[in-house]
Amino acid sequence: TTIMNKDFLNELGLADDNDGTSTGQRGMHNPDDHVKSTSPVDGALIGRVSSTTPGQYEDVIAQASDAFLYWRTVPAPRRGEIVRQYGEALRKHKDALGRLVSYEMGKSLQEGWGEVQEMIDICDFAVGLSRQLHGLTMHSERPMHRMYEQYHPLGIVGVISAFNFPVAVWSWNAMIALVCGDVVVWKPSEKSPLCGVACQNIWAKVAAANELPEGISSLVNGDYTVGQLLTRDTRVPLISATGSTRMGKAVAQTVAARLGKSLLELGGNNAIIITPSADMDLVLTGALFGAVGTCGQRCTSTRRLIVHEDRYEEVRDKLAAAYGQLRIGDPLDETNHVGPLIDEAAVETYLQAIEGIKAEGGTMVVEGGKLDGLGSNCYVRPCIAEVTPDSPMARQETFAPILYLMKYSYLDEAIEIQNSVPQGLSSAIMTADLRESERFLSATGSDCGIANVNIGTSGAEIGGAFGGEKETGGGRESGSDAWKVYMRRQTSTINYGRDLPLAQGISFNL
Ligand code: NAD
Repeated sequence: TTIMNKDFLNELGLADDNDGTSTGQRGMHNPDDHVKSTSPVDGALIGRVSSTTPGQYEDVIAQASDAFLYWRTVPAPRRGEIVRQYGEALRKHKDALGRLVSYEMGKSLQEGWGEVQEMIDICDFAVGLSRQLHGLTMHSERPMHRMYEQYHPLGIVGVISAFNFPVAVWSWNAMIALVCGDVVVWKPSEKSPLCGVACQNIWAKVAAANELPEGISSLVNGDYTVGQLLTRDTRVPLISATGSTRMGKAVAQTVAARLGKSLLELGGNNAIIITPSADMDLVLTGALFGAVGTCGQRCTSTRRLIVHEDRYEEVRDKLAAAYGQLRIGDPLDETNHVGPLIDEAAVETYLQAIEGIKAEGGTMVVEGGKLDGLGSNCYVRPCIAEVTPDSPMARQETFAPILYLMKYSYLDEAIEIQNSVPQGLSSAIMTADLRESERFLSATGSDCGIANVNIGTSGAEIGGAFGGEKETGGGRESGSDAWKVYMRRQTSTINYGRDLPLAQGISFNL
């Protein structure tokens, strides 16, 4: 139920008593059990979404299980055609959905639209993929035998997502899973539930136009306890979970205990190494966008700059000047660069981190702090701190716009600092020196899932496999061959001869 009247809410079917019940949830709701959606932009209550009860969850899984029996028999290119239509529907609603993302989550409108564009792009990718779910053919060691592998649909894929990419992360998973012949049950973040309902409403229209059964894409809402219904459920062979490392450790253990598969996309602590030959224009653009974009709430946000001692002061002073130009405020106003944090708890975490930096002897180059009078209690000032490479604070992911500067003398040392944190998502080097860039990309270089040269850490293209190592969880999703995790691989050997040669020459004299 939404309680405000805005055109983009109306367009997305969020105008009145619509909580996804017709598109995945069924049964009676307890009116007291709601997830509230509050905008960090202006503090207004946008609406309420009913939490899925265990009984309703059972209905959703029963329906998804039935839908899978049908969907797995639909030829993959035909499944791709449905995904193509979903991409078309997203194009139609790009403006409204981008506005909802911006208003419910707080990222700039441009980034909200950008997120919907990523959804459209992954639909296009998935359509092509639907004709390319290839396996290999191997030569058998036995005469008159043929051996090959094929990929089959897996079943129900549970998607648990974070607040900071409230629509794109689901689509990275769902669009690929759908062309693979899986059905999807999505639990969006309890901090951005309306984005989930809006995506599901758009799906419901496409499904109805094609007379598809319910349950191919479903939505369950609520906090981590609803997520646990999925992670504990043996009927859900794959859980794709995006969020904090703390969540990932809990999800990994629960899913592993039942020998399910999990795909984990967890926290990052991303660094840019700035070498003596770095192009300063690229450094400033890459670092600034990486550190303050989405108010420092991207998994790929730039959190650390590891700067060669010869360029250190120049980088520090130019960045400090650039921070002085930042316009912070309503993210739906396109003249602003930085919007709010997600909620007041995030502001508290950010303020505590600044205290922690000061307590361990770090120096603020650009002071941080909470900003009042901007519409809600969630606006903060992006800040920069100088710390030593062994700073305990800089080893943690604080999900806020705090940028750490640290100095290095030799490239080996810079790579060691960059790799010394527990997380391993995104990394970058700014250099015009071929030896340095190749070293950074070699087996002795960056230990991250993403390693860039002369671009920042933030913002990945959907065509590549996305994810990271160590505490980032090891999962890969989106492009390249990430689709393979959404399918089960089967090796088949066919004997077209008249003999059955047995292993180790065993014979039964029959
Ligand atoms: P979060 O971990 O608090 O919540 C993420 C989701 O997990 C939510 O839907 C939540 O309800 C659910 N959840 C939490 N505990 C659970 C449990 N025990 N069982 C089942 N479900 C559970 O994260 P957040 O604050 O929404 O998002 C920020 C974090 O997400 C950051 O650490 C960020 O780096 C990470 N992130 C990573 C990626 C990536 O691709 N690597 C992308 C986006 C965000």
